[in-house]
Amino acid sequence: MKHSEYQGFEQGPIRPPSEATSLLIRVTRNCPWNRCSFCPVYKGTGFSLRAVDHVLEDIHKISAYLAVLNGHLKTYGQINYHDLDHLSRAMSDNDQLAFYAAYAWLDGGMQSVFLQDADSLVIKPDKLIRILDQIRTSFPWVQRVTSYARSRTIDRISEDDLERLAAAGLNRIHIGLESGSDAVLKRVQKGADQAMQIRAGRKVKKAGMELSEYVMPGLGGTGLSRQHAIETAQALNMINPDFIRLRTLAIPQGTQLFTDWENGNFLKMKDTEVAAEILLFLENLQGISSTLQSDHILNLFQDVEGTLPQDQEEMKSVVRHFLDLPPEEQMVYQVGRRLGIFTSTTELNVFVKRQRAQAAIEQYKITPDNIDEVIDQMMRRFI
Ligand code: SF4
Repeated sequence: MKHSEYQGFEQGPIRPPSEATSLLIRVTRNCPWNRCSFCPVYKGTGFSLRAVDHVLEDIHKISAYLAVLNGHLKTYGQINYHDLDHLSRAMSDNDQLAFYAAYAWLDGGMQSVFLQDADSLVIKPDKLIRILDQIRTSFPWVQRVTSYARSRTIDRISEDDLERLAAAGLNRIHIGLESGSDAVLKRVQKGADQAMQIRAGRKVKKAGMELSEYVMPGLGGTGLSRQHAIETAQALNMINPDFIRLRTLAIPQGTQLFTDWENGNFLKMKDTEVAAEILLFLENLQGISSTLQSDHILNLFQDVEGTLPQDQEEMKSVVRHFLDLPPEEQMVYQVGRRLGIFTSTTELNVFVKRQRAQAAIEQYKITPDNIDEVIDQMMRRFI
């Protein structure tokens, strides 16, 4: 088969928040599933594999630019904005993309590599191992190589192959579990049910990789909220992932879920209802030692974080504290949190922060009656 020409260095559109300092290596383009009703990221794009040689070419480029940057550092002891401009001035736009990716990685400490896009394990294990081998050869100091993967894809890979990938250096998988409720998963067309999600999660752990599971509070809407909270916790209790990461639902325009919402077929939850759902979820996590993280700007609680079981009570008390506030106080916190003013309800008492939140409330004429509408608009800015 004739391979297409190398099109240059590529970067995909997203990575998990925890991979902010990772080098992004694009192994495939877009999402092979692309049907989840809440997901806007790859809509209107087609999935394609990149030739392994092209991915290796990207790795060589990063390696070459790191050598240039390190050479400069050795000679001059620093790299400033003018140096970067000078070093990259004669490069093509595409080479500059690779050059600045190399610089960002160097600047971030070069600890980890993230394989893009949505489901890198969909390519043949032998091909992925060639890429992982090259990463190890070019960047032998790297501590972590990670990727997104769909539960359905993991479910199809043999245990042996998964172990071979782990041995080649792939040591953390991020899965968008979203929910452990079959009713919710079916409704949002996740393409996996609870049993498959449990099998996939356990398989990743058995292969010796770290596992990060994303959970989406609010995804069941008001109708399925209870099931969503309880059955998601049940699934995670069976998996015991290393990390559980919360990413609250926002409904972007252009998605099927947005249409469902507009038509009244999906009943979006208020912040206070999502908070109650998170509390129920936390109450149902049992017998696991996962670390829960809330590292997304869409989340109402940045401080619902900790390791189970020892921090479970503390995490629940953060949510309870919000739920026990009078509506006016909840509103001040909601607005302040979404504007990046508060990181915790305890900051409601910090005079300067509170003043800023209240100024926004007055400026935009926010009341307990229209707060959810305003929050929807704010959240859409972060999608
Ligand atoms: S699998 Fe992930 S990237 Fe693909 S449509 Fe679903 S949420 Fe989006």
